[in-house]
Amino acid sequence: METFDVIVAGGSFAGLSAAMQLARARRRVLVVDTGLPRNRFAHASHGFFGQDGRTPAEILGTARAQVLAYPTAELREDEATHAAAIEGVLEITLGSGGLVRARRLVLATGVIDELPDLPGLRERWGITVLHCPYCHGYEVAGRRLGVLAVGEASVHQALLLPDWSGDVTLFTNGTFELAADHRQALSARGVRVDPRPVVAVVGDGAELEGVRVAGGGDDGTVVALDALFTSSRTRMASPLAEQLGCGLDEGPSGPVIRTDAWKETTVPGVYAAGDVARAPHNATWASADGVTAGIGAHRSLALA
Ligand SMILES: Cc1cc2nc3c(=O)[nH]c(=O)nc-3n(C[C@H](O)[C@H](O)[C@H](O)COP(=O)(O)OP(=O)(O)OC[C@H]3O[C@@H](n4cnc5c(N)ncnc54)[C@H](O)[C@@H]3O)c2cc1C
Repeated sequence: METFDVIVAGGSFAGLSAAMQLARARRRVLVVDTGLPRNRFAHASHGFFGQDGRTPAEILGTARAQVLAYPTAELREDEATHAAAIEGVLEITLGSGGLVRARRLVLATGVIDELPDLPGLRERWGITVLHCPYCHGYEVAGRRLGVLAVGEASVHQALLLPDWSGDVTLFTNGTFELAADHRQALSARGVRVDPRPVVAVVGDGAELEGVRVAGGGDDGTVVALDALFTSSRTRMASPLAEQLGCGLDEGPSGPVIRTDAWKETTVPGVYAAGDVARAPHNATWASADGVTAGIGAHRSLALA
C-alpha cells in the first residue's frame, strides 16, 4: 500500500492551501479531489486576494499547477470514499478501488448547499440567485434586489443589502413572523417587506425577470427583480468526518467539524479546513484555514 506523510481529501481553496505548505516543507503529500468546488456555479469569484474577478476554475487551476510544481506533491482525480484511523495510521479508500495511507489527514472536502425548493431557483444559483453580498453584491449594485427569506436570519441579509442598492424587497414567504423591532429596522434601512408566498423564480435562461408571488389571478404576479439573495442549509460533501468519529458542532447553516487552533479535529492526526470546519464561509477564509491545517499537520510530524 502506498504511504504518504499527509493525505489531503479535497483539492480546492482549503485543500490546495494545506498541500502547498506541506509540499514546501518537503513532505510527501497526496491530494485526492473530485473537482467540484462549491462556487463552480459562479462565472467569477470576487474578493479573493490578488485574484478578484477570475473564474473559480482559473484560480484553482493556477493553484493546482503551483502545488504540483513541487516534487513531493501529487494529485489524484479520485474520490476518498472511506477513512479509518488504525493504530495511528490514516487509511483512505479511493473510489477507483485503491487504498492509500498516511500519518496525517486533512479533511478539506467542503459542503453542499441545500437550496430552497422553488421552481427556477436552482438553475440561477451563483448567477442571478446569490447568497453573499460580499462575493457578488458589487456586481448588482444599484439594481432591483430581492431577499427570499428562509427564516428570521434572512432579516440580517436584507438589512445589509441597502449598502449595495436603494431598491431592496424582503419576501418573508411565510417562513417567520416579522417582529416589531425587525420591521422598524427594515423600514429605517428603506427595505420593503412583501409577505406574499413566492411560488417561482422566473426569467429568460439564467437571467432574472423576478419572482412570481401567489395572488393577482391564475398566474400570480411577477415582482420584477435583477437579483435574488437567499441562504442555503449546508451539509458535508463527504462522510469522512463521521466515519472517523470526528466531533461536530452545529454551525449557523449546518454541521461544522470541531477543530483546535491548528485545525486538528478531535481525532488525533486528522485535521480539517475550509467550509467543512468553520463558519462563516468564503474562499479566503477557506484558504487561510488550509494554511493553518497544513502547517499544523507538518508541525505535529516534525515535533512528534
Ligand atoms: C455560488 C457561490 C459563489 C461563491 N462565490 C464566492 C466568491 O465570489 N468569493 C468567495 O470568497 N467565496 C465565494 N463562495 C464561497 C466559496 O465557494 C467557499 O467558501 C469555498 O469554495 C470553500 O473552499 P473549500 O476548499 O473549503 O471547499 P470547496 O471549494 O467546496 O472544495 C471542496 C473540494 O473537495 C472535493 N471533494 C468533496 N468530497 C470529496 C471526496 N470524498 N474525495 C475527494 N474530493 C472531494 C470537491 O470536489 C471540491 O473540489 C461562493 C459560494 C457559492 C455557493
